[in-house]
Amino acid sequence: MFGFILRKIFGTKHERDIRRLQPLVEEINSLEPAISMLSDQELKVKRFEFRKRIDQKARELELELKELSRQLEEATTPEGRAKIKARAKGVSNQIFEDVLPEVFAVVREAGRRAIGMRQFDVQLIGGMVLHQGKIAEMATGEGKTLVATLAAYLNALTGEGVHIVTVNDYLARRDTEWMGPIYGMLGLSVGVIQHEKAFVFDIKTTETGRWELEKVGRGAYLREVPRQEAYNCDVTYGTNNEFGFDYLRDNMAIRPDDRVQRKLHYAIVDEVDSILIDEARTPLIISGPAEESTDKYDRINRIIPNLRRRWIIEEEEARAKREGIDLERGYDASVDEKAHTWTLTEEGEAKCGQLLGIDLSDPKDMSYRAHIIAAGRAHDLFKRDVDYVVKDGRVIIVDEFTGRLMPGRRWSEGLHQAIEAKENLRIARESQTLATITFQNYFRLYEKLAGMTGTADTEAGEFNEIYKLDVVVIPPNRPLVRYEWDDVIYKTEREKFNAVADEIAKLHQDGRPILIGTVSVEKSERLSALLRKQSIPHEVLNAKNHEREAHIIAQAGQRGVVTLSTNMAGRGTDIVLGPGIAQLSGLHVIGTERHEARRVDNQLRGRAGRQGDPGSSRFFLSLEDDLMRLFGSDRIASIMDRLHLPENQPIEHPLVTRAITTAQKRVEVRNFDIRKHLLEYDDVMEKQRAVIYEQRRLVLEGEDLGSHIISWIEEILDSILDTYIPERAHPDDWDLRGLIERISQIFPIALQKEDIDISQITREGLREMLLGDIRMAYQAKEARIGPENMRHLERLVMLQVIDERWKEHLRAMDDLKEGIGLRGYGGRDPLMEYKREGFEYFDVMIGAVKQEVVGLLFRVRLVVEEARPLVAQPVPAQQFVHPRYSTYELAERAGPVRQAGRPAEGWGTRPEEPSDKPMPYRRPGRRIGRNEPCPCGSGLKYKKCCGRNVH
Ligand code: ADP
Ligand code: MG
Repeated sequence: MFGFILRKIFGTKHERDIRRLQPLVEEINSLEPAISMLSDQELKVKRFEFRKRIDQKARELELELKELSRQLEEATTPEGRAKIKARAKGVSNQIFEDVLPEVFAVVREAGRRAIGMRQFDVQLIGGMVLHQGKIAEMATGEGKTLVATLAAYLNALTGEGVHIVTVNDYLARRDTEWMGPIYGMLGLSVGVIQHEKAFVFDIKTTETGRWELEKVGRGAYLREVPRQEAYNCDVTYGTNNEFGFDYLRDNMAIRPDDRVQRKLHYAIVDEVDSILIDEARTPLIISGPAEESTDKYDRINRIIPNLRRRWIIEEEEARAKREGIDLERGYDASVDEKAHTWTLTEEGEAKCGQLLGIDLSDPKDMSYRAHIIAAGRAHDLFKRDVDYVVKDGRVIIVDEFTGRLMPGRRWSEGLHQAIEAKENLRIARESQTLATITFQNYFRLYEKLAGMTGTADTEAGEFNEIYKLDVVVIPPNRPLVRYEWDDVIYKTEREKFNAVADEIAKLHQDGRPILIGTVSVEKSERLSALLRKQSIPHEVLNAKNHEREAHIIAQAGQRGVVTLSTNMAGRGTDIVLGPGIAQLSGLHVIGTERHEARRVDNQLRGRAGRQGDPGSSRFFLSLEDDLMRLFGSDRIASIMDRLHLPENQPIEHPLVTRAITTAQKRVEVRNFDIRKHLLEYDDVMEKQRAVIYEQRRLVLEGEDLGSHIISWIEEILDSILDTYIPERAHPDDWDLRGLIERISQIFPIALQKEDIDISQITREGLREMLLGDIRMAYQAKEARIGPENMRHLERLVMLQVIDERWKEHLRAMDDLKEGIGLRGYGGRDPLMEYKREGFEYFDVMIGAVKQEVVGLLFRVRLVVEEARPLVAQPVPAQQFVHPRYSTYELAERAGPVRQAGRPAEGWGTRPEEPSDKPMPYRRPGRRIGRNEPCPCGSGLKYKKCCGRNVH
């Protein structure tokens, strides 16, 4: 109540945010007359002037920013990074403060001239919100595509590149071609990343050289270029998947030139809720096949029908608890549809063991457990044509939010294979993760992030907590007049669909366009059958024809058109009303089921009534709907009782609507928890990924690794010394034989036990001597092949070892996560266990990398391979496989080693003599005098160099 009064006086936070920006709008408007007098050419070169002014300001703030970016580099936690970024955001926004009004006036002018769209005042505010690094909530049809150009131009002025992220390839292409002329007029280049190709906007691709709105989205104005070039543009459009995968691939690149992205500077995410919330439940994964047999899946699949499964019902559960009944007795497994889990009972474990002829409690059969659970879930929790479809012998995931098919994506942890087994399909070999990242962590890599959507406010808390993004709700350009009817609720789904069909038939008579949203392909088809029975012509938009969906949805506002679409299909495409439709009260939207998130329902409603158009919406529900069944039925049933509602009659009552909203809020919270959980696990990986990727980057970018190697050598030596001659041990207890053996396994020094006189030498002295020898050997090698080749060899070996070990590590982490889910922890927090063990794994891996790199550096040698490509073939853009580039074998087959005396075409590495024995330099035939210069070319005397250990 009090809050309400305060709001009355001061306005909501959103209103205040917007009021604060209002003066800037006035200023932009006042500049318009002058700007509109500029010639096209003057408009185009404006960017140089702006750039100068920005640079000037940047110089003034340089120290402050440098300090912040130093802090950013040192920050280790995502939270820490976020805090620093927020401060940096504030400071760097000051850089733009002075130019912003004029910049926006210029972009508005360009929009008017180039494509005939002059930004409305609320759009200018949207642009400012995006520039501030926040989320602009603007309703469907408010022109967010155009709004993005304001912030994109402003932030591209520094030359660092701006990414605009769309939900699918079609929209990326469309927006590039649609907004392209504006950027062109302003002298900026625009690129677009598509699934397997990349383009730049280029008006000269058409014979006429003229831009026409009708051709937008078909690629008429796009010229294909290498991916890198599209990324080098001032503004680059693309989907979250493509940006994310390119990031991962760049970090798997084996040559600096193979990388395509630049620094992640600024991203504007369109339909930000869809990308950062709905899609954030599954991480991006690049995977390759692992070498494991697949018949296990078939065997396990066959036993599932023999298991007695119990479906968990909440009330029953509570009663059993009260009365102390063991519900599990007599069952092998429990299925919880609500929590989406499937668990084995004790009886079930024994039965599975019997059926498979194994013992599930034996560690060696551990992996069966995960497979059985996956098979159980495949049978009892995943439905064909709802969760997936079978097409061309393959299981294709149906995106639970958009209803789109997701070919190429696979469920992880053996679930996909289990479903393939259930459907009697050929089972793909189990894949192994080669690189992975969540969208949360990918988008947090940008220096500045902004978003826009029609529906963000219900998830404002999550945006703030996870991404540090504020939501600002921007009022529509023209007031919303859409009428939202109360929900109607039927007892059964059948009654509900009949009522929907009747309503459609009624409205269709007048020619009023109707858009119906459904939750799945299956439901769409069910309704479609009903409409066919009534001879109502209609379009069905679902995962199966999503190629055309944008074009179909664009027609959804025409007279007499009935469009059936899975909930968010066609998102991003504008529904313009046909002639005379406004008089018929505009587009009517029908929802056939509540989605888990209110946001998605709002998205559907928002398809009607854009830009002040008339329109209406209504949801038809039934007590058999998933949401009601799983989350709200008891509550609603009791309301029905209280209201004494007769049977067989729809219910339409605000109390019921409110109960549904409550159920939705509960699910939203639960889903947020799931996403947070995923993120908490990924944060563990994120830290490790940051270390590895940074190390890789240094290697790729040619940092001198010599000093790293030297310090690694010391570390390795110290740990060997600790093992064989511990610090406080008496020299008599030194295990010299073990020490020498171990050392010579790694380092090529010819050390004999007799060389060490324990009565003469201290531990420290021995360490110095060994270190000296090893360093000398390293220098000798460098002298032999030349410093440049040595650096090259270091890079090659390091990349190879890091990648190989990292890959194994990812696999181990996968297994760890899976295992932790299965292990009981006696009250301990599995996440903490995962963190702890994960760090241990990582430490071990880093240790192994160092040792292997050092060992290999002494053992491998460079060979010149004529006309052989460097290390490996370039990796084709979309092959999600890891570039294997073990050239040891190649080099071995390449025959005798030739020294590098001419420009190297390509390098390979190969192990030196198989014996791995130390190789002091010896020239055959002649003994080298101990005081002669060492023939290895080091410049040292022989006795001080390679001859040091030759007696
Ligand atoms: P949103 O992404 O916000 O749903 P779109 O960017 O798809 O909206 O634009 C919706 C419609 O509004 C498009 O048909 C576009 O041409 C039109 N539009 C947007 N801004 C303007 C403007 N300033 N002047 C005229 N038409 C505009
Ligand atoms: Mg849009």
